Amino acid sequence: MRAVVFENYGEFPSLTEVPKPEPGPGEVLLRVAGAGACHSDISVYRVFEEGQPGAQKPPFVLGHENAGWVESVGPGVSERVRVGAAYMVYGPIGCQHCRKCAAGLETYCENAATMPYLAVGLGRDGGMAEYMTVPERHLIPLGDADPVAAAPLADAGLTPYHAIKQALPHLDGGGRYALVIGLGGLGQIGVQILRALSGATVIATDVKEEARARAEANGAITVGAGERQAEQIRELTGGRGADTVFDFVGAGPTVSTAAASVAQGGRVSVVGIAGGTHEFSFFTNPYESYVTNTYWGSVGELWEVVDMYKAGQIRPDIERFSMDDALEAYRKLEAGEVNGRAVVVP
Ligand code: NAD
Ligand code: ZN
Repeated sequence: MRAVVFENYGEFPSLTEVPKPEPGPGEVLLRVAGAGACHSDISVYRVFEEGQPGAQKPPFVLGHENAGWVESVGPGVSERVRVGAAYMVYGPIGCQHCRKCAAGLETYCENAATMPYLAVGLGRDGGMAEYMTVPERHLIPLGDADPVAAAPLADAGLTPYHAIKQALPHLDGGGRYALVIGLGGLGQIGVQILRALSGATVIATDVKEEARARAEANGAITVGAGERQAEQIRELTGGRGADTVFDFVGAGPTVSTAAASVAQGGRVSVVGIAGGTHEFSFFTNPYESYVTNTYWGSVGELWEVVDMYKAGQIRPDIERFSMDDALEAYRKLEAGEVNGRAVVVP
């Protein structure tokens, strides 16, 4: 079968022939319906070096945002798993023998350091292929919902959902403001989740006008990325600043904007992995404000994201690519030319 394979550190992936996988005990073989191309994949193949925290050893098939139909099941799989039915894939894979895994938060597995991989598409073969294998406990039934548009929700939906849920206490009450920085795959869905889960006014910013227009269509007020950005954001909040800030870029300039825009007692979540830093001291930050980071989410939260998708509260904006054009999806993602989320449909 054909697959997008990350072959060597620092190199663009290849579209190549690999053997069709066989499901092991407790696993299913999934015929992939869609695989989202996440910006983190670019860090995986371009930025990380061997031995660096976060680096996943090549070669493996990319794709950690997947949905598809069960083609066959391996030994010991429950009869509740229905062959032919559509499922969403929870990507992170922990040890299954620690308190974080027991809570469904396999992203924060306490034994991650001794696991052979982090997730499907991150060390283990992922879904940028015609078929993939998945542990059965990682399947969430989609019912009649479209599995192609659902695919990006496995990360571009779950990650903002996890970050936003933690920040909701800061948005409790009237007259609250949430700021979303970076309106790509994660940010656009982040705006939709904020609108559905909170009564806050959502302010959103991106360097791309097209991305701002999409966020406006989803109910956000937008600000451009010019010199007066932080000032304009503060003006929109009546001078107080935003009660929560989600930085879906995480570069130096966006982390600075986040810190400059947060209210007293507010909360900044750095989600983007571009490595920007910000000084935190008594004098440099609003009183009693918080800065945190966050990585992906739990399987239980992905069930909730799927429920929101089925209820029409999340509508992923996708650009489809055939397997022939899978590498073009990554080229466009690197060039900042993708609108919404690129999904490879094998
Ligand atoms: P994307 O490429 O789809 O979107 C990024 C957006 O940010 C684009 O619209 C771009 O125009 C905008 N942008 C870039 N620089 C900007 C700037 N200086 N100011 C304002 N906007 C700017 O990326 P994505 O897939 O949504 O991922 C976003 C980030 O989140 C990446 O760093 C990715 O690696 C990371 N990520 C983190 C997690 C996690 O668990 N923490 C999960 C998935 C992705
Ligand atoms: Zn674990």
